[in-house]
Amino acid sequence: MKSIFLKRGKEESLRRFHPWIFSGAIHHMSEEPEEGEKVMVFTSENEYIATGHFQIGSIMVRVLTFDHEEIDQHFYEQKLAIAKDVRQSIGVMGNDNNTYRLVHGEGDNLPGLVIDIYGNTAVMQAHSVGMHLERHIIAKALKNVMGEGLQNIFYKSETTLPYKAELGQENGFLLGGDTDDVAMENGLKFHVDWLKGQKTGFFVDQRDNRSLLERYAKGRKVLNMFCYTGGFSFYAMRGGAELVHSVDSSQKAIDLTNANIALNFPDDSRHEAFAEDAFRFMEKMQTPYDLIILDPPAFAKHKDALHNALKGYTRLNRKAFEKIQPGGILFTFSCSQAVNKDQFRTAVFTAAASARRNVRILHQLHQPADHPINIYHPEGEYLKGLVLYVE
Ligand code: SAH
Repeated sequence: MKSIFLKRGKEESLRRFHPWIFSGAIHHMSEEPEEGEKVMVFTSENEYIATGHFQIGSIMVRVLTFDHEEIDQHFYEQKLAIAKDVRQSIGVMGNDNNTYRLVHGEGDNLPGLVIDIYGNTAVMQAHSVGMHLERHIIAKALKNVMGEGLQNIFYKSETTLPYKAELGQENGFLLGGDTDDVAMENGLKFHVDWLKGQKTGFFVDQRDNRSLLERYAKGRKVLNMFCYTGGFSFYAMRGGAELVHSVDSSQKAIDLTNANIALNFPDDSRHEAFAEDAFRFMEKMQTPYDLIILDPPAFAKHKDALHNALKGYTRLNRKAFEKIQPGGILFTFSCSQAVNKDQFRTAVFTAAASARRNVRILHQLHQPADHPINIYHPEGEYLKGLVLYVE
């Protein structure tokens, strides 16, 4: 294995188990590794400190272990078995819920790897070249850990790997392939578009927040903005909403939402979906909504986009504050990792003030337990939300 030697003092964050090594921390390498190759990392005193995947970019090594151990199928089996045990403890692996995240990258000490489970199908996504190169042994390890309950593994990394690495990767099944595309979350069914859907096909990370919404829905007129597959909409329907309107700028998302509503509530006329831009829809809407969900895509993909992203959150939330009925409830989210909890709260505060509404924070929401945050890697925190009572 090739070796990387750090500059003096640059081992400090590794001693605190932070799993990333930035290019600026590297003093020299025994030989230039290939992208995705496993490398051993040493301090300036030649002391072993970590083993990880090498990649060209600002994060040059993603650490897999701080112990001197082999990274092989057995290693992945151990990590996956722990990940499974965590999900069992959380209670997300049940009969009426077969949809959950099994591996959340750094949160499960497997940087660069995401695995979502939908019934007997796993959707696996590599965010690093190293995980891509090891996809076959990871798939074998996954099958061994999950056993009979797992029949299909769909690999979906076409858009998540660095384009420059020229891996020619394609999406496709690594195991099975004859799969039912309907999965279940808290007793509600939905279609998963393995092939073309965003992320792994469904936003698994809003499960708990959708459940909370269900408890607020009774008798309300609900607007689910940025609905994608309609997740919040079908919980609102089950919760007894008077009407539910779903909006997304993508026609495909609207078709998916309609299909999912039909799957759970056939011939229920309370729901309607609109393919339209969020801002345009909110500008002209006439329905007196008293429960609004705003779950937009990440406005800031990088730190440099932060300022504009905050302005975007303010503009969007201001529209909702202007339009929502007195006594209305607003569920508002940000999934931008670059925007922290306080910044998001300030953006929403600014919006409330400019609409001159009295607003109470009822709940502060975050990502669910199956998207755990590694305590040494605060960057893993990304989803935040507020539930607000608007007087
Ligand atoms: N709330 C969803 C996830 C939202 S993902 C869930 O629970 O699953 C963000 C969605 O916003 C995407 O489906 C995307 O098509 C949509 N979108 C992006 N820009 C938009 C815009 N300007 N107006 C309306 N929808 C938009």
